Amino acid sequence: MSEAMERGNLWVVSAPSGAGKTSLVRELVAHEPRLSFSISYTTRPPREGEVNGRDYVFVDEDRFVAMIDAGEFLEHAQVFGNRYGTARGQVDRELAEGHDVLLEIDWQGARQVRTMMPEGRSIFVLPPSREELERRLRGRGTDSDGVIERRLREAHAELLQWSEFDYAVINDDFHRALADMQRIVAGEGSNLKASRPAVGELAERLLAETPE
Ligand code: GDP
Ligand code: ADP
Ligand code: 5GP
Repeated sequence: MSEAMERGNLWVVSAPSGAGKTSLVRELVAHEPRLSFSISYTTRPPREGEVNGRDYVFVDEDRFVAMIDAGEFLEHAQVFGNRYGTARGQVDRELAEGHDVLLEIDWQGARQVRTMMPEGRSIFVLPPSREELERRLRGRGTDSDGVIERRLREAHAELLQWSEFDYAVINDDFHRALADMQRIVAGEGSNLKASRPAVGELAERLLAETPE
């Protein structure tokens, strides 16, 4: 019996830094064996507790530029002063093997992927308020004050993109948000479209609360 292998689905998750996307994605992938997390390359130094090859592949500037020149990235972008990129090889292989793949990337990368792989679906994660976003960034305890200020400043640019996404999850109660993510990747996210009024209202409020 030779049945053509069905290609996996591509999911893109973006959010302002501190919204909780890494925590949600980590739990989601742990609960969903058919979902593979795409491990990005970055020039950012590892945070305490991050493991090379698990959280990111940590590389220097020269290696990153060599990979760009060799066409190895599906997408790449400069984010908060560091470079981040998704290697093409792993994603193509997983999709061809029929696995679903999840990319946790910024809005610039999401835009590149949307152009190249329009069949992919995207999820935007929103914090419940700007105050809570700052509390989470500070509470995480991984970044200096300067880095936190920069991430809060750039939250506005990320938030401006919310309507480009197919689905949106409000990360207020973590377990509720996780259940929403699970419904979306199971193809049961019709009530969680980014176009629903609650999302637009929250996004506008967050944009008003974050400086440009
Ligand atoms: P986080 O925002 O707290 O998760 O901090 P990180 O330093 O881990 O990531 C910073 C930003 O880079 C986030 O917006 C990530 O979504 C984004 N990012 C991570 N990997 C990639 C990637 O491979 N490509 C792109 N374009 N962005 C990435
Ligand atoms: P991101 O990857 O979007 O920058 P993280 O997943 O690192 O965000 O989350 C930022 C911080 O907020 C972490 O300390 C995390 O434990 C915490 N956090 C995430 N989701 C929630 C939530 N729903 N309620 C309270 N704290 C949360
Ligand atoms: P309400 O149901 O009154 O709109 O929202 C109640 C709470 O749930 C609010 O704090 C809101 O931020 C949050 N919330 C609203 N919609 C969603 C959603 O789709 N997913 C999640 N996780 N939280 C939501």
